[in-house]
Amino acid sequence: MFDYLIVGAGFAGSVLAERLARVAGKKVLICDKRPHIAGNAYDLYDDAGVLVHRYGPHIFHTNSRDVFEYLSQFTAWRPYEHRVRASVDGQLVPMPINLDTVNQLYGLNLTSFELTKFFESVAEQRDAIRTSEDVIVSKVGRELYEKFFRNYTRKQWDLDPSELDATVTARVPVRTNRDDRYFTDTYQIMPLHGYTRMFENMLDHPNIKILLNTDYREIEDVIPYTEMVYTGPIDEFFDYRFGKLPYRSLEFRHETHNMATYQPAPVVNYPNEHAYTRVTEFKYLTGQEHAKTSIVFEYPRADGDPYYPVPRPENAALYRQYQALADETTGVHFVGRLATYKYYNMDQVVAQALTVFARMSGTKRSKVLAASA
Ligand SMILES: Cc1cc2nc3c(=O)[nH]c(=O)nc-3n(C[C@H](O)[C@H](O)[C@H](O)COP(=O)(O)OP(=O)(O)OC[C@H]3O[C@@H](n4cnc5c(N)ncnc54)[C@H](O)[C@@H]3O)c2cc1C
Repeated sequence: MFDYLIVGAGFAGSVLAERLARVAGKKVLICDKRPHIAGNAYDLYDDAGVLVHRYGPHIFHTNSRDVFEYLSQFTAWRPYEHRVRASVDGQLVPMPINLDTVNQLYGLNLTSFELTKFFESVAEQRDAIRTSEDVIVSKVGRELYEKFFRNYTRKQWDLDPSELDATVTARVPVRTNRDDRYFTDTYQIMPLHGYTRMFENMLDHPNIKILLNTDYREIEDVIPYTEMVYTGPIDEFFDYRFGKLPYRSLEFRHETHNMATYQPAPVVNYPNEHAYTRVTEFKYLTGQEHAKTSIVFEYPRADGDPYYPVPRPENAALYRQYQALADETTGVHFVGRLATYKYYNMDQVVAQALTVFARMSGTKRSKVLAASA
């Protein structure tokens, strides 16, 4: 008899499995329909021996000391500040847009002060910021919006930025200095031996049993358990009763090249050319030294594994219907990106799972974090 059946071995499911087993002493069965743990953060050594991320680049960054300290129990880290270049007008320029981006693109030599004036002169006034287009044109004007954002967004979402919530681009900064880091969080680090190793350490406990290649529906009626933690898609749990929640998917094309370095930056975005949106070279992220190098191309797709909830008001309304059902469903805890239909980064999912555990065990989150093996 298990105390908990946990559906999904990604961050949400694995954090809860670990806390329930180690802190609360519960017996846990964690299942995943995929043949591996770690969910979308899964990494592996490819045929050439290069460490790659199966489901696209996963860069860890957080401002939360709690999350950092919690995960530090299961991995050592390497410092890593992420950098992205965008291929625009035949040049590779820093992204997010900064002083060097504009100077390089237009062959100028502006100062930060002059760039602020430049943005002010091209920015379009908006009474209300409702859409992703509003966010960008009100900051950097139409021309830079067209060059960097419009087509990228159309490729990624199959929607024009004018049809997408402001939240999609609201977190893309625009800088007037030369800072070319993609993130500015306090902690910018990667698990030293990879994500999968970190998950193996989290789940390594006598109270945790792992069942892979298994959809929970195959076992829920035959394996006795008391409560469930569900981290799969919420609409699927309720048999799509109110209709399907829309997601964008991706197809990943992995390649290995017989050269030490393939491109001059960890990620190159292609807003305007090619069917793919970006190319990632993993050795930058992992720090691995190898004579060969492995890269991944990302092709946005309408169908496939659910990756990105589509942030539109009607989808949020549909989610709220499912959320109301979830609230009425006793004995099942809905946690994670798919079960709450939110675009969460890894650290946000860890924080959410820790909060849910605190609620389940009736403790304060600080106490939950302090308790270890
Ligand atoms: C391309 C891409 C890039 C990303 N890059 C970053 C990044 O750089 N930084 C960052 O912080 N975050 C990034 N993320 C987000 C990150 O992947 C998520 O925050 C995190 O994986 C969410 O964890 P989760 O446990 O909620 O979901 P998941 O990792 O998706 O885990 C859910 C698991 O549930 C399993 N499951 C679903 N249904 C069933 C079922 N019926 N039965 C059994 N198992 C089931 C799935 O197989 C899956 O393994 C990225 C996401 C994508 C798609």
